[in-house]
Amino acid sequence: MTVGIVGAGQLGRMLALAGYPLGLDFLCLDPSRDAPAGQVAPLLHGAFTDRRLLARLGQRCEVVTFDWENVPVTSLRSITRSHGARIAPPVAALATGQDRVAEKRLFERLGIPTTRWRAVSSRMQLEHAVEAIGLPGVLKTRRFGYDGKGQVVLRVAADTEAAWRALGNVPLLYEELVPFDCEVSIIGARSTRGELAIYPLCGNVHGAGVLRLTCAPFGPARWQTLAARYLTRLLTHFRYTGILTVEFFVRGGRLIANEMAPRVHNSGHWTIEGAATSQFENHLRAILGLPLGATRALGHSAMINLIGQLPAPSKVLSVEGVHLHDYGKEPRPGRKVGHLTVVEPTARARDARARRLLADLAVSARIP
Ligand code: AMP
Repeated sequence: MTVGIVGAGQLGRMLALAGYPLGLDFLCLDPSRDAPAGQVAPLLHGAFTDRRLLARLGQRCEVVTFDWENVPVTSLRSITRSHGARIAPPVAALATGQDRVAEKRLFERLGIPTTRWRAVSSRMQLEHAVEAIGLPGVLKTRRFGYDGKGQVVLRVAADTEAAWRALGNVPLLYEELVPFDCEVSIIGARSTRGELAIYPLCGNVHGAGVLRLTCAPFGPARWQTLAARYLTRLLTHFRYTGILTVEFFVRGGRLIANEMAPRVHNSGHWTIEGAATSQFENHLRAILGLPLGATRALGHSAMINLIGQLPAPSKVLSVEGVHLHDYGKEPRPGRKVGHLTVVEPTARARDARARRLLADLAVSARIP
């Protein structure tokens, strides 16, 4: 059985690595010749819009998934239309996740609390949005935003001009800046048979819009229950197959949805060593109609992103119990090139190890 992956980044790579023990084969499509998944699986090299390559993917794979949220939906639709391969997760979920306005509307329709927001497509609308929502706020591009890209924070009215100049050439959304107590995410799978499996809540710390650190399990049982309820509404709405992630701000015990990602997620990397079944394996099981694996945590995990460049392996591996994941990427400032995971029997031991690693790496992220 061959699984197609549109996008061959680190998520595709970890999907393939999780699929080999299940006897699966993979075929990826990516515009980059040295893409991380292309180092461990066959790669069709070309644009995401290349109809000839999409056709090959559709012909050679039973099911096609994707590892990047900005894959053009028209490309995925063309695979189903002309070659019959199944696409999972559903293209409708990808399309919603690609448009912050569609995403907010869906959260509201499903009774999932989200930020106060307004769509903005002119300078005048931005003025009105700032009046209605207030300051501080965040102006974001409706599309193609990830890792904090395409966002400007407005603190005072005078910031409006510069924010409009920075982003005003594309459709936008303005929302309140939430003074959150912490950020969390919930990751869960729904299989083609309708079975659900939801992971323990993740506590996330971002720096400059990029995830730095995740701890799991995280937070009181009430947060887990709420987050799982909201995630289940989305999974059911889409008749979803695969892994879906929702990120929330937590403020005064309320969960406020920030965004969803219709794919395996960076905040779920701890599940490789820290859960009974990894998010990558459960994604594959879900899209192939196999029984889902247990999502229970095997201890208290911390995952630290390695950003810009990898540390010397001999240095980090000298910390007992640490797992190093090298994505095989060229170092570049701001780029996610790998991650570290530790799993400990107690939260206190986990925090101590994570603190030591953060100090060794000279990363200033706090433990959530
Ligand atoms: P996003 O790309 O929307 O997930 O934003 C990346 C990160 O920027 C979030 O995880 C937050 O840390 C921060 N951020 C984005 N939007 C807001 C907001 N409305 N209020 C507070 N922080 C935000």
